[in-house]
This record gives sequence, C-alpha cells and structure tokens, in this order.
Amino acid sequence: MKIIDLRSDTITRPSAGMRKAIAGAEVGDDVFEEDPTVNRLQDISAEIFDKEAALYVASGTMANEIAVNIHTKPGDEVILDRYCHIMNYENGAAGFLSGVNLYPIDGINGIITAGQVEKAVRHYPLASPESALVSIENTHNYGGGTIYPIKEIRKISKIALDNSMKRHLDGARIFNAVTATGIKPDEYSRNFDSVSFCLSKGLGAPVGSVLLGTKDFIREARRIRRIFGGGMRQSGIIAAAGIYALENNVERLIEDHENARTLAEALNTSKTFHVELRLQQTNIVIAEIKNPENSAEIISEKLHSIGVPAFPFGDNRVRFVLHLDVSKADIKEACKRITTNFD
Ligand SMILES: *Cc1c(COP(=O)(O)O)cnc(C)c1O
Repeated sequence: MKIIDLRSDTITRPSAGMRKAIAGAEVGDDVFEEDPTVNRLQDISAEIFDKEAALYVASGTMANEIAVNIHTKPGDEVILDRYCHIMNYENGAAGFLSGVNLYPIDGINGIITAGQVEKAVRHYPLASPESALVSIENTHNYGGGTIYPIKEIRKISKIALDNSMKRHLDGARIFNAVTATGIKPDEYSRNFDSVSFCLSKGLGAPVGSVLLGTKDFIREARRIRRIFGGGMRQSGIIAAAGIYALENNVERLIEDHENARTLAEALNTSKTFHVELRLQQTNIVIAEIKNPENSAEIISEKLHSIGVPAFPFGDNRVRFVLHLDVSKADIKEACKRITTNFD
C-alpha cells in the first residue's frame, strides 16, 4: 500500500531537478560571506519581497527568534496571537534567548485584528513591560492555513507604527497566501520591518528559511545568527535547493490548494468528519471529528492504518497538509480510502 503522507508539508524530499541543482552548486565560506550560491539566494529573496537585504538561516524558528531578539530588549513584550508558532512551537525560545514576555491575543482562526492589537499595547511605563513588537503569522498554521486579510495587515501595521513598535511577519507559508490571493510578496512585506519564510515546507527544499529586512537589520541578524549557532560554511549546497524551490515550486502551490479542496469535500461526505470549507483557504485541511467519543488520537491511528497518516490537532481535530509529494492521483486515492473506511 502506498503511503500518502498528509502529516506535514515539511516531509517533502528534494526532487531530481533539485538534487541536480544541489550537486552543481558553487560554494564558498558563508561566514566570510563568500558563498556565491547563498548570496544569490539572499539577493533573489530580497528582490522578491522588495527588501534591502536577506539572510539564509537554518530554520523558520531561527529566523523568527533572530527577529524577536533584534526588535526587543529583555523585559519587553511581543504582541501575537495565542496559537502562533512563536508562542507554541519554538520551545519557549523567545523567553529563553531574548528574555521577552509574550502577550497572546485570542484571534479567530489565528487572525487577530488591529483593534485587538491596539487594546494590548501597554501605556503604563512606570510598571508595565514595553510593547516592542507585534508579530503575525500568514498563512496561519493552527488556524488551518488561513490568510490574513491585507486590509487588516495594513491596519495592524499602522497601529504598531503609531505606538513606535516593530512589526514581524512569520511568513513560513507566505507563498501559499501569495498564490491563493494574487497579492504580491512585496505588498505583504512593505507592512513589516522583518519577514521570514520557509524553503523547507511546501516549496520542497530540504533545509532552511530566509529572513528579510533593511541592510542594518540583516547585518545585525548575521551577528545574532552566529550567536545562536547558525553560522554555516559551504551552505550553498543547501541554498541551491532554495533557489531551485523559488524558481520552480511557487506557482505549483495552487495544485496543493486544489488537492486540499478535493480532500475537504470528500471528508464532508463522511459522517465522521466536518470541514468548514470557508476556512480551507490554502494547503491545510482541518477536519473536526463529529462524534465526541472518537478522539483525534483514535481517528489519526485509523488514518495511519489505511496509509493516509495525518496529525491530531487538538482533542477533536485532525490536520491534513497537502504538498508537492502528493499528486492529484494520490489525493484521489486518499479520498477513496477515507470514504470507504470511515462512516
Ligand atoms: C514551520 C513553521 C515555522 C518554522 O519551523 P522550523 O521547523 O523551525 O523551520 C515557523 N512558523 C510557522 C507558522 C511554521 O509553520
């Protein structure tokens, strides 16, 4: 039985074309800023997002945490939504590495509003922490791949500027938002002081993320990256995969979104699952389990046994993620297995 792995878009493996790019990569010592392939990846990325400079880093977590570190000082506060990656999936790194407080806001499906941000800003410097940074995640992972409305982003940006705060975009899946909406990367990025995006998710590269900002910000980011243990040497070997991903795997994300819709509709024909189609906006499908006696754990085990593994996502939700290693034929087969094995 072929395993159709829908646990995450991080599981993708380099394609033949990508491996060829890796094999042919010209390299140098990137701590000396002498790796031509890393430099090219950074230049291409900066151009796509219309930022002055970019830095290739080991992971999305590293990109976010470098940004948090530079935009804040110990004791400051970061305003973000309760279910974001920085808050929940970075092992408490913001406290560990930068000594900041996180101020979680209850967003709706991961989306927080400018009004909520405005209310969260502190105005009592005698005793309160200083509100230094607002961070949003687009698309939002826990929200189910939901897209931030560009209008709300602009409003949040304005509130932050009005309060002398910095603005970070965790754009791990920003290209999913770009592909789904047609809004250009720079239309998003101009509302932020820093932006991070992942090469190792739906774009299919084996390793790495990119952090973007001004020249000064990136100079400092290079220093902090080294402090965090992320100074790499001939990293052009892996950066070559990133260039290949940006050149070949962005537009095809739309196929993942279509496959996600096919899966969502199939899940809705069963009595076991319910997918709120309005929230299936990109490559993630969150299925609620209708019968409370079936926990997400039990359902996930059964999905695993029919060769369609997906992760439990809270007590009564399962998350399916579409990606470039799942073809249209694969998703048809996955739908068939699900509809024949679940009521
Ligand atoms: C995956 C992800 C990251 C970064 O994860 P790494 O595993 O550290 O590369 C950051 N933010 C979001 C929203 C993510 O989904």
